[in-house]
Amino acid sequence: MKISAVIPYVAWIGFRNQLLVKVEADNGQYGWGESGLSGRELAVEGALKHYREFLLGKDPRQIGGLWQEMYRSQYFEGGRVLTAAISAIDIALHDLVGKELGVPVHQLLGGAHRDRVECFASYPGETELKDYPALTRKLMDANWNAFRVNIVAPPEVSYEGKEGGVLETRKAIENTTQAILACREAAGPTAMLGCDAHHRLSVAESATFLQRIPSGTLDYIEEPIRDESPEAYEALRKLTDVPFAIGEEFSSKWAFKPYIERNILQYARVDVCNVGGLTESVKVAAMAETNYIDLLLHNPLGPICAAASIHLAAAVPNFSHLESRESPVEQLPVADTDVFTQRLQMDGNAYPTPTEPGLGVDVDEAVLKEMSIKLWEPPRLWKTDGSYQNW
Ligand SMILES: [Mg+2]
Repeated sequence: MKISAVIPYVAWIGFRNQLLVKVEADNGQYGWGESGLSGRELAVEGALKHYREFLLGKDPRQIGGLWQEMYRSQYFEGGRVLTAAISAIDIALHDLVGKELGVPVHQLLGGAHRDRVECFASYPGETELKDYPALTRKLMDANWNAFRVNIVAPPEVSYEGKEGGVLETRKAIENTTQAILACREAAGPTAMLGCDAHHRLSVAESATFLQRIPSGTLDYIEEPIRDESPEAYEALRKLTDVPFAIGEEFSSKWAFKPYIERNILQYARVDVCNVGGLTESVKVAAMAETNYIDLLLHNPLGPICAAASIHLAAAVPNFSHLESRESPVEQLPVADTDVFTQRLQMDGNAYPTPTEPGLGVDVDEAVLKEMSIKLWEPPRLWKTDGSYQNW
C-alpha cells in the first residue's frame, strides 16, 4: 500500500474555517485529518503541499516514521505551522490504517480504557451574569457535571478608530468572579467548575482575580497568562492555589516538557490538531501520566478534530474531560451535515467509545470541493489606552 494523494481543503464551515486533509492510498483506501492553526490556514496548506512531495509513494502504515520525517526533514524542526500540518496528516493516516485493518483508531493507540468519553460544557461568551444560574441548572438537568466559565470580554465596548472590543480588565475580573460564584452556588459542590481566561491577564492581574475567589470554588483556571514562559507560571503558582489547565497552543511534547516535569500544569489541554496528531498526543499523555496529570482535551474545531480527540481519550488512562461546543447551552454549527456524511454522535454529556473502523467520520468531497476559505481575522481586543490585548 502506497500513499497516492494528499489533498488539503480549506473551507468555511459553520462559524470558522476548517482545514481538512484527505490522504489516499493506491488501493482505494483513504483517511481524513484536520489541522488546528485557526486563522492562518493558508500557511498550513503551504506546508502540506511541501509534505506531499515526499509522502507520495510512501507506506501509510509507517505513521511514526513519517511523523519523524515530516518533523525533521526541513532541518528546522517543528514549530506551530509545521506541526499543525503534521497533525492533519497523522490523523488522516490513523483513519486510513484503522479502516484498512477494520479497527477503530483507539485500538491502534493501545486499546480502549473507557466506555464513554465525557465532555465539559462552556457557557456562551455573551452570557449575562443573571443568566448563569439558569444555564447551570439546564446543564445539570441534562446530566452534565463539568462546566467552564469564559472570562468576560464585553463586546459592546469598542475602541474608537479600531476594529474590535475593549477589555476593561478590572471590570472583567469582577464580572468573571461573580459569574464563577453564581455557577458554583447553582451547581453545588460535586460539579467540576473551571474558568478559561484566554491568556488575557498579567501575573499580577491573575493573582488579584484568583485571590478573590474562595479556595475550593474553582477546580481549574485555564491559561490566565500566556504560555511562552514556564517561569511566569511558577511565579503565579506562589500567588494562588487554583490548579492550572495549560497547553492548547503547545505544538510538541517538548513544549509540554517543562510544564509537566516541573509540575506547573495540573490539567494538560492537549490539542490533537496542533500538538502533532495522535502520534504526539499519546506521548504527551504518557509524560503526563508519570506525574498523575489528566488530559482536559481542547476541541474547538469540527467533527474530525472531535473524533480524533475521542479516540485519544478512549485510549489513555489519564483523561478528565473533552471540550464540547455542542452542549445544551451552546450549539455551535461545527458540522455541516452536507459536508460530514458520518460523524460520532453524543449520548447525553458523553461520546460512547467508537466501534466503527477508523475515526468514524466521513466527508462528501464533492460538496467540500464547492466550498472555499473565507479570509478571517480573529477578534481584536484593546486595552482602555488603545494598546494591544490578547483576544
Ligand atoms: Mg482555552
